[in-house]
Amino acid sequence: MGFRKNIRRVTPYVPGEQPQEKVIKLNTNENPYPPSKKVQETLAGLNPAKLRLYPDPAATKLVTALADYYGVSQEEVFAGVGSDDVLAMCFLTFFNGEKPVLFPDVTYSFYKVWVELFKIPFSCQPVDENFKIVKTDYFTPNGGIIIPNPNAPTGIFESLTVIEEIVAGNPDSVVIIDEAYIDFGGESALPLIKKYPNLLVVQTYSKSRSLAGLRVGYALGNKELIKALNDVKYSYNSYTMNEYAIELGTAVLKDEAYFKESTGQIMETREWAKEALEEKGFTCLDSRANFIFAKHERVPAKEIFEKLKEKGIYVRFWNDERIKDYLRITVGMRVEMEKLLAEIEGIL
Ligand code: PMP
Repeated sequence: MGFRKNIRRVTPYVPGEQPQEKVIKLNTNENPYPPSKKVQETLAGLNPAKLRLYPDPAATKLVTALADYYGVSQEEVFAGVGSDDVLAMCFLTFFNGEKPVLFPDVTYSFYKVWVELFKIPFSCQPVDENFKIVKTDYFTPNGGIIIPNPNAPTGIFESLTVIEEIVAGNPDSVVIIDEAYIDFGGESALPLIKKYPNLLVVQTYSKSRSLAGLRVGYALGNKELIKALNDVKYSYNSYTMNEYAIELGTAVLKDEAYFKESTGQIMETREWAKEALEEKGFTCLDSRANFIFAKHERVPAKEIFEKLKEKGIYVRFWNDERIKDYLRITVGMRVEMEKLLAEIEGIL
């Protein structure tokens, strides 16, 4: 049959399980807190009759709100259907396939899917023994760079100094910093977009804004980069945000207090849970994200993962050629983490 050959070779992304029954779900880095009240009020006030109409393809209302929020111009903002779609669009738009795209070998697994799908040559640059990226690996000739900061699934944050050096050292490549987890203690590269026309910062509402189900992601960068994304978007005729995403996505930016409080709570719980896990014999990486990447000194991660699942607690198990026997545990509410720790106590 007439399939593109590379489709058969693509290794699809395997998402975390979405259990239907009531469980403690610490496997896909969702936010345990509900969306802001402003979102809930706006939702209640929406008129379903409006769904008769097509949404504004430019999502102008949301783009304007994001521009105001981040202190940039509208021409420096591109909004899309979750950051996965924004990132896929970036791969299509900026990674031209002539030279390899660089990204860390321990990283967000979707990057590999997109390069295979879009037939983009790539090179995975090894992280060091502490899971940190090796800066000098990003100064070789390349057709673009993408680095998540903090990284996934490790949670490790790279300093802005290193990020800036990489951006500055690659003026002919687009450098994308995927900041899906930036609001949990990292420092955004956003202020650098004014200085570097080759830098694109991508963020999402899925983690720190408690809106994974709404599907809102966005890219911030130089006007020319944003224009290129829009040109591809309209040529492709896809990635149109729906009315709810535009309205609720605008509303969520109006509740800074809740945003600060809920992300602050998650960071506090993360540090507490990390310490408690360490007391039980786990080694935990220093995470600046809403998850903890951990390994036990004696009991295999797979065993802990399976036994927790039997008890209705879902975490993510990692074991591949680069990462041996780790658990990635999303930071839930304090009470959920207490239950997790109590079950782990019984397993060890
Ligand atoms: N980047 C990274 C590093 C992620 O872990 C995720 C979430 N799986 C995403 C991007 C995509 O998030 P979303 O599409 O929900 O915005």
